[in-house]
Amino acid sequence: MSIHVRSISKSFGSFQALDDVSLDVAAGTLLALLGPSGSGKTTLLRIIAGLEFPDAGSIEEDGEDITERHARQREVGFVFQHYALFRHMSVFENVAFGLRVRKVPSAEVTTRVEELLRLVRLEGLGGRKPSQLSGGQRQRVALARALAIRPKILLLDEPFGALDAKVRVELRQWLRRLHDEIGMTSVFVTHDQEEAFELADEVVVMNHGKIEQQGTPDEVFDRPSTPFVMDFLGNVNVYHGRVENGRAFWHGIPIDYPAYPHAQSREARVYLRPHELEISPPGAVANRLGTSLAASIVRVTRSGPITRVACRPHGSEQELHVDVPTETARGLQITLEPGTHVAITPRNARVFIPGPEYSI
Ligand code: ADP
Ligand code: MG
Repeated sequence: MSIHVRSISKSFGSFQALDDVSLDVAAGTLLALLGPSGSGKTTLLRIIAGLEFPDAGSIEEDGEDITERHARQREVGFVFQHYALFRHMSVFENVAFGLRVRKVPSAEVTTRVEELLRLVRLEGLGGRKPSQLSGGQRQRVALARALAIRPKILLLDEPFGALDAKVRVELRQWLRRLHDEIGMTSVFVTHDQEEAFELADEVVVMNHGKIEQQGTPDEVFDRPSTPFVMDFLGNVNVYHGRVENGRAFWHGIPIDYPAYPHAQSREARVYLRPHELEISPPGAVANRLGTSLAASIVRVTRSGPITRVACRPHGSEQELHVDVPTETARGLQITLEPGTHVAITPRNARVFIPGPEYSI
């Protein structure tokens, strides 16, 4: 089932939580809503679910306007961050809940709940109480409960947020398989970009009640369309400079920016991701962006497979952060330690012009 969100706005008192949000989710897509806390993700999800109603705009499912319909009249399954299981009920009865409410005959409830418990790999645990399960198991019960009514749309609000890292990774891979097997349309809220990028077919980045960008994980990561998306997707080096005649300059290195061909120079920002900078022994290194920059190492931190190097380009006060795969770092002909002179070569750089018409 496809979902079309058209120009939705929603305020709580004087606070505008959603500002003219439009979003299309194709049938069968697993879409991640990504954004900082307070950006309106939960509000948007609750409106799609029919648990909250917009002040303006409409929602369609498969072309049918369902804006006025309450959650119970929509074929939607919902999983919240906190398990929200009924504590006094067994696992079996938790999963059966939606079916009992819909007066499904008892024999059919048993068949369906057992099938669901198998699907979420909890067969044989139907008699337990939620308190007798681990966090990951409880969240799978919540998922089975949401799936019991055979929803066409599954909405998940940070479903793995409260779990530890290892369980999260397992559950997200498993959720991806489940989504594909069942063939639902799923919208998944997270503030964890790794989770969004690993799981989703499409990613939507939200900020201050608006959508900053929608695209595949590759599109969003490789071609962030606003400075916010760029910042949000990782620690980046940001430089304030100017652009003119289709080029910006970063420490004298020209960076093409054909979108601004004008002779009159304009303020611009240059963004460089730490993993898109290369470090080598001092001396000029040429690549398609021109040449390298002479710098000195200020600090080195190893964090597992990545060695993070803070440098200071000669003649500059601003630190430049470079991420080197630790393997690569070992193979360098220089020792990465404070004081070492190096050459820094950007493999990639992005230019943004601050203003209403941001573009790359
Ligand atoms: P997110 O899920 O991205 O963290 P939310 O959609 O929960 O963001 O909230 C967006 C903003 O709207 C927040 O600033 C929050 O305080 C506010 N908000 C959300 N729900 C309500 C509500 N029922 N009453 C008042 N303010 C709310
Ligand atoms: Mg939220």
